[in-house]
Formats: sequence, C-alpha cells, structure tokens
Amino acid sequence: MVPRLMRDPLTGARVILAPGRAARPGAFSAPVPIPDDGECPFCAGRENQTPPEISAIRSKTSRANDSDWTVRVVPNRFPAVASSGMGIAGAACGVHEVIIETPRHGQRLVDLDADGVTDLIGVYFQRLRDISIMPGISRALVFKNCGANAGASLVHEHAQAIGLNMVPPLMGAEERRRARYQLKTGRCLVCDLMGRARQSGRRVIFDSSQGCAFCPPAPRFAHETWFVPQDHGYPSATAYRALALGLLHVLRSLERLVPGAAYNLVLAGPAPCEAETHHFVLKLLPRLTGIAGLECGGGLHVNPVPPVHSARLLRESSQQA
Ligand SMILES: [Zn+2]
Ligand SMILES: [Zn+2]
Repeated sequence: MVPRLMRDPLTGARVILAPGRAARPGAFSAPVPIPDDGECPFCAGRENQTPPEISAIRSKTSRANDSDWTVRVVPNRFPAVASSGMGIAGAACGVHEVIIETPRHGQRLVDLDADGVTDLIGVYFQRLRDISIMPGISRALVFKNCGANAGASLVHEHAQAIGLNMVPPLMGAEERRRARYQLKTGRCLVCDLMGRARQSGRRVIFDSSQGCAFCPPAPRFAHETWFVPQDHGYPSATAYRALALGLLHVLRSLERLVPGAAYNLVLAGPAPCEAETHHFVLKLLPRLTGIAGLECGGGLHVNPVPPVHSARLLRESSQQA
C-alpha cells in the first residue's frame, strides 16, 4: 500500500499511514522497564508520604488518609503548573493531581476487574467535573502515562488530572473543528464519526447500546482506539460501566498482541459552557513506535498500522482469550 496522507478529523493533525514502515527492523519499540527502588509513595500504608488526599474510594468505616482504600486522589508533589499567581501575565497556573489507581504496587489497569475499572472511570470524570469549575481554570484533562515509553516515571499504576488557566492547543483545535462541523451540518462530529465507524464495522472493536470502541480513520499511533459513550454530557453510572468494559476489552487485546505495551490514555474536558452537550472521547494512544524527528520537527505523525488492520488484530486477539 502506498503511504497516504490523512487528517485526524477531530484535531486536524496530519498523519502519514505507511504500512511499509512496519517491516523495517526495530519498527516497534520494546517495553523499557521503569527503575524501581522499592521506595514507592503510592503504596497502601505509605499515605503519609503524599500530601493529604483530595478524595478516595475507601470503605465507609475508614477515614481520610487511612490505608484502607482502592483509589486515592492526591495533589501532585511535582506539579507542571503553579497553584497560585493566576493573575500574573504568562504564568502557567492551575491544579495538578495524581489518581493512584490501585493500592497494590505492580498491579496494572489491565489486570483490574470490571468493577475496579468502572470505579476508575467514575473518578476520571469526577475529577474533570470538579476541576473544571474551579476559579481561573479554562480546561481540565485527565491523562495516564503507562510504561516508560509513554512517559511514566513510577511503576505504581496512576493517572493524572490537570486543570489549566489556558486552552491546550490540541484541545482548542478540536473544539474549533467540532464547532465548525456543527455550524455547517447541524450535527455532532463525534456522533457522525461513531456512526461512520459502525456503518462498515471494519474499524469497530467493541460495541454496545451504551457506546462504541473503534479505531479512528487517521490514527496518529498504531492501534489508537477511541471510546465514545452513546450520549452527550457527563456519562451516567451505566455509561461508566460500558466505557470500562470497552477499555478492558481493548487493553486485554493489546496486551495479548504486544505484551507490556506502553500507552497513554487521554480524556479531555469540555469548555465550561458546553459541559451538558459535550460528546466525550476517551482516547487510547499505544506508544509502540517512537516520537521522532518528523513528528517533532514537522508535526507529522507516521503510523505503520492502518486502522482497519488494527481493529482486525485487536478483535482477533480478543478471541484468543
Ligand atoms: Zn507502590
Ligand atoms: Zn455526539
């Protein structure tokens, strides 16, 4: 297949789909282990090594900062943004939190059960909702770096939530494209992308009445998958469950396909005035190939696996369970 220049319909990012690149030696990076000195501040029993918790899922009888919890949200000790100075020109301000996803060191998201992942999805959305209404915050984002190739520096499974006093460029680009599409067609771009994926079914990996998991038409990353709830606005508990089942299904397939695969998860929050109408997209961005010169210097992503091929591999991999 001849390499093809594509455009991510949501962000407008340009992508070269180049299947021939998959055949070159070292096309896919092997997982790199994260150094682990055993001094992990996220383990149960070491709650005094983090700042006091913001929220947690814990038993009704336990108290804040006790060791009896399953998910714990704490301020990031090394924040990317300042917590004060909102009014100072050029200051990057906001909030930066860590979502500790399990009390057990070494337990991975892909190893959790459906109830555990449903709880996590609920926490992701709750943090987005809470942070986005804080004074001075323009946009909130939940993201997860899993594996050294995806930017993780700690073994203990965690995600991060950030609130910013500005609109991140990709989120801004996506909002403008969604708004333009709505103006031009009167329809929701995300609904239409999900509809197109369902129409042929070739890019769909997991589907239900509550939402759909599919490979986007111009994925920046090999095996990139989007999880889209059926309805607009912050999801219901039922939709959390559907998102969790879809995410687990695809993560387990990816793990069988590429054991130890590094990945990022990204869940962008809406502009505050669009909270009720926003169509959320949870993006899984596997990091099997490096970000190299063309990506850094030209803003052009090269993906060696076309989305139809990815979806087929992920579907087949799930049947091997
Ligand atoms: Zn730990
Ligand atoms: Zn929609």
